Amino acid sequence: MGKMIYLDNAATTRTAPEVVEAMLPYFSELYGNPSSVYDFAGKSKEAVIHARTQIADVLGAKKEEIYFTAGGSEADNWALKAAFEAYKSKGNHIITTKIEHHAILHTCEYLEKERGARITYLDVDENGIVRLEDLEKAITPETILISVMFANNEIGSIQPIKEIGMIAREHGILFHTDAVQAFCQVPINVDECNIDMLSSSGHKINGPKGIGFLYIRKGVKIRSFVHGGAQERKRRAGTENVPGIVGYGAAASRAAASMEERTAGEIELRDYLIRRITTEIPYVKLNGHPSKRLPNNVNVSFQFVEGESLLLMLDSYGICGSSGSACTSGSLDPSHVLLAIGLPHEIAHGSLRLTLGEDTTKEDLDYTVDRLKEIVQNLRNMSPLYEDFMKKHKK
Ligand SMILES: *Cc1c(COP(=O)(O)O)cnc(C)c1O
Repeated sequence: MGKMIYLDNAATTRTAPEVVEAMLPYFSELYGNPSSVYDFAGKSKEAVIHARTQIADVLGAKKEEIYFTAGGSEADNWALKAAFEAYKSKGNHIITTKIEHHAILHTCEYLEKERGARITYLDVDENGIVRLEDLEKAITPETILISVMFANNEIGSIQPIKEIGMIAREHGILFHTDAVQAFCQVPINVDECNIDMLSSSGHKINGPKGIGFLYIRKGVKIRSFVHGGAQERKRRAGTENVPGIVGYGAAASRAAASMEERTAGEIELRDYLIRRITTEIPYVKLNGHPSKRLPNNVNVSFQFVEGESLLLMLDSYGICGSSGSACTSGSLDPSHVLLAIGLPHEIAHGSLRLTLGEDTTKEDLDYTVDRLKEIVQNLRNMSPLYEDFMKKHKK
């Protein structure tokens, strides 16, 4: 078997060598606790402040508005649970969408079942985009929070975040966005988009795993999430994950610096991959918006093919892909996102997500499409549905 072709960068990315390099001293010689008073610990404290500044700069935010967490899921949980607690005297209604990540959806279910929240899950159109009229219509005097993801992790669709932020602002409603997939892939300015809270995660941008942040606009009332010491302006206690934070800052600053050029290259490769798949393989459909999509996302459904078998066959050639989000693969329920854009169950089951990374080459994609063509044909040849379909069409 040849080399591995990694096309699952929406699930996680390789920690960049420079990022690992930046982190290493904070595991070994510079191990001080940022809260300690002596000069030695000051080095750790400075490193945390530097990383906070690096991240704030990418968003046009202030460093005091960045709160480190243990990842994207924690940031999402915090935003929803703590905003609900802080604003529940005003109302109990939260608006979100049907295509959010489970870190949002399952938190909403919890708030609904256990905390008395009322949740509206907005539909999306066939391209996976929220309709602004639907959002406007869903708003009531009880609405305290709108949470709409910046870009979808499965089908890559990018939401009209600026317009949503404007609507939230006009109605005096808090606006949170899960930007885990969009951060450093799409330019984001929290002021221009009226974003009050934003979640992000290190391991999706060639940084380390287990570190994320929640941006909280100054002035937003929000409860602390972890009680204990005074870290993170008393809002999220616990000794800082200094190496993780340093790596995250380095990853963000590196990814932001290369964003324009890198994403232009990715878009070209993405569209090349989409074009080859959709012209060279019959009975295939692209999922997600053709242009309002993440630079690295390809999601297609093959009729008469079972997605899990497709993944296993690709794996046998060293090609790593996904049939949906990593959290849902392994279960046989079709992805909630693919159902939300209106795909019938049997089509949703034949879906494949390929997400490019900064190291992906055209050769990788050519090899992938060549294998994919053979695999799809082989799987169809074993499918009774395909056999029936072909018989009907020959008549
Ligand atoms: C990966 C991801 C998360 C979860 O982030 P973790 O750091 O893995 O907890 C949340 N939302 C979206 C959109 C994601 O892609």
